[in-house]
Order: sequence, then C-alpha cells, then structure tokens
Amino acid sequence: MKDVKARTVFVPPHRERGAVDARIAESGLRPTAQRSVVYGVLLDHAKEHPTADEIFIQAKTEKPEISMATVYNCLDALVKHHLVKQVHLDRAATRYCPNMEEHAHFLCETCGEVWDFEIAVKPRMSGFRVPSGFAVTQREVNMRGVCPACAEQEVVR
Ligand SMILES: [Zn+2]
Ligand SMILES: [Zn+2]
Repeated sequence: MKDVKARTVFVPPHRERGAVDARIAESGLRPTAQRSVVYGVLLDHAKEHPTADEIFIQAKTEKPEISMATVYNCLDALVKHHLVKQVHLDRAATRYCPNMEEHAHFLCETCGEVWDFEIAVKPRMSGFRVPSGFAVTQREVNMRGVCPACAEQEVVR
C-alpha cells in the first residue's frame, strides 16, 4: 500500500499556524478568519478532495458560527485567487483540491477515494491532438477505475 501513496505527486501539507494566512495574503486576498479556516480545512483534507458540504461540516467544528454561504464565498475567493481548484469527478457535487501543481485525478469507483497523479507529458502539451488554431489554456484529466486496495479485495472475494 505504501508505494501506491508514494507515487502520487502531492503529500498534503499539514496546516501550520501563520502559513495559511501567509499563503492567502500572497495570493492577493485579505486573510480573514473565515478564509483561513476554510483553506486550512482544505489543506488538512486535501487527500479527500472534499465537497463544499464536507468543508462546511469541518469548518463548523472550528468556527461554529460559520455559515454555508460564507463557506461558498470563501471557496469562490480561494478559487479566483488560484489557491484552490474545483474538480468535477462525477455527477455529485463539485469537489475542491488545494494542490495547484498540474495533476490528474483518479477516482476509485469502488471506495470513492481520489488520488492525485502526476502528469507525464510536457506542461504546454495537452496530451491530445489539438488542431492548429486552438490554444489550450487549461486541461482537466479525470480517470476512474479501481484502486489497488479494492482490486485486491475483489480477488479475495
Ligand atoms: Zn487533486
Ligand atoms: Zn478503492
């Protein structure tokens, strides 16, 4: 199991006091208490790629007075300032990812876990045949399948 995790690009950083606010400020946003709670929750739960609802539940444990609308506002601001990106892996709610390195997402259809995979092609290439005249500014690569742990369980069964 260990080597599977080691091959993903990103080890979610642990939230450090002050570091969260510093990163928010660097992005050009004013670090408010709400923004730092929301961003902090995302950093702590980066691996899960949580939805706004899940972030709200976590944020509430730290800041009981925070509202869902505030969480959405914070998420919008964090997305606009490139601290966090939206991920659409299934028809379920939008998830959020604080890993701003370019990467692909892998969703295990059995356990629902999400992995970040490093992209092997050169940064300016899409990996697809892009007709001339089209300029790619962004790409999102989402894969689904079965993770090694679930594949193993299936064999046992
Ligand atoms: Zn991700
Ligand atoms: Zn799985």
